[in-house]
Amino acid sequence: MIKALKSMYNTVRQCVRYKNERSPLFTSEAGVKQGDPSSSLLFLFFVNDMINTMNADIDGIFTLEEIRFFLIMFADDSILFGNTPQALQSLLNDLEQYCQISGLKINTGKSKILIFEKGRHTRHSFSLCNKELEIVDSFKYLGTYFFKNGSWNRTQKLISQHSKFALHNLFIVFNQLDLDIKEKCKLFDSLVGSILNYNAAIWGNHDSKSIEIVHCKFLRKVLSVKKSTNLSALYGETGRYPMKIQRQLIMIKYWIKLVKTPDSLTYNVYKMLKHDADLNISYSGMNWAFYIKNLLTSSGLRYIWDNQWNTEIINYEQIKLRILDIYKQTWYADINNSNRLETYNLYKHDFNLEKYLSCIKENKFRIALTRFRLSSHDLAIETGRYTNIDRKFRICTHCNMRVIENEYHFLIVCPKYITIRQKYLKPYFFRWPTLNKFTNLMTNTSTNAINNLAKYIYFSMQERRS
Ligand SMILES: [Zn+2]
Repeated sequence: MIKALKSMYNTVRQCVRYKNERSPLFTSEAGVKQGDPSSSLLFLFFVNDMINTMNADIDGIFTLEEIRFFLIMFADDSILFGNTPQALQSLLNDLEQYCQISGLKINTGKSKILIFEKGRHTRHSFSLCNKELEIVDSFKYLGTYFFKNGSWNRTQKLISQHSKFALHNLFIVFNQLDLDIKEKCKLFDSLVGSILNYNAAIWGNHDSKSIEIVHCKFLRKVLSVKKSTNLSALYGETGRYPMKIQRQLIMIKYWIKLVKTPDSLTYNVYKMLKHDADLNISYSGMNWAFYIKNLLTSSGLRYIWDNQWNTEIINYEQIKLRILDIYKQTWYADINNSNRLETYNLYKHDFNLEKYLSCIKENKFRIALTRFRLSSHDLAIETGRYTNIDRKFRICTHCNMRVIENEYHFLIVCPKYITIRQKYLKPYFFRWPTLNKFTNLMTNTSTNAINNLAKYIYFSMQERRS
């Protein structure tokens, strides 16, 4: 093994690539090979003794039980931290000395100082290798932005901005390929959702409107509905949970992993947060453990929190089922209490992906049915809302019946569309129309009936516009 490594570094020849051109080869006497899988490991071997030259036996070092905590290393990235400016500067001095002895160079231009504080802006200065280090408001570590106030709101805003690019590319793919809705959702989850949920186990306890906006934009696009469409209807029609619910599950999964490895360092950090959570200390909503405690309590699973040392009672599937059930209850209450969805909740009872979204192959027919179902249409009952016309005056102007033009009237009553109706719907539904028949028609699950219903809506809407 050592022989192999030695021969790898016997002579290291490198060149510089710029655009498509390469420089002549030259030999390199220092450092590890760029991009080689063994490089970060070799570097860690080399700096293994760094910790011994640092004096952590001073005031202002973060201490967890007996562990003194001041250095995190990942590949060639290092983080030093202290509770006081003096402690941090002392660690920086030790680091400088270590690098001098071992012949390492620090890129001081890339080394930054982040002071975590709320409200106040204290002035300090820190130096390394005779250079003053820049003090920044945020720092990206392992792909996640940390901000000086300790809040994750701006992290989430950055994530949602970042994901818009991926969403845009996804929409280009949608325009070029004819994909089924299930495939579209899968692509969204792996290409955009993975960005939106990146490291969410850490920051997921913050509500994030900007992240949900990206998700809803996707849902409106796959359903082809107006911006004003009710959010609960978007989730219900596709059977998709809001990102917040997805994050709750990610956090619970991480929490379970944590409590099942009580020997880990992270568990020790968690224990500190849990101690405060049990005293109801929430750090203004930023205590991670407090959030988990509340989540379990509001899910009626407080006993799991109280007995978490007994990891046998912790079952992810059970917690997940409860969280999803509770969401479905609020979803159901929401569509029941919404004035705008009074027709929708006549035929929508289950939170799942609607069959018609997969079984109507022609886009224009499927879109016509979606818009009709989600009140994303121009019938008088809907347009009257925007112009503030009293409900009873939202009359159908396409016939002489002087009744409200709502979904029921359009589908099985209005005489204007009788020829189209005779072609696509069974006479049973419109000969003696009732609200019950309307509901039956809208909940019919036969592929043939669904396709005919969509065609009726499409052609009648065309007729209505002409
Ligand atoms: Zn009419």
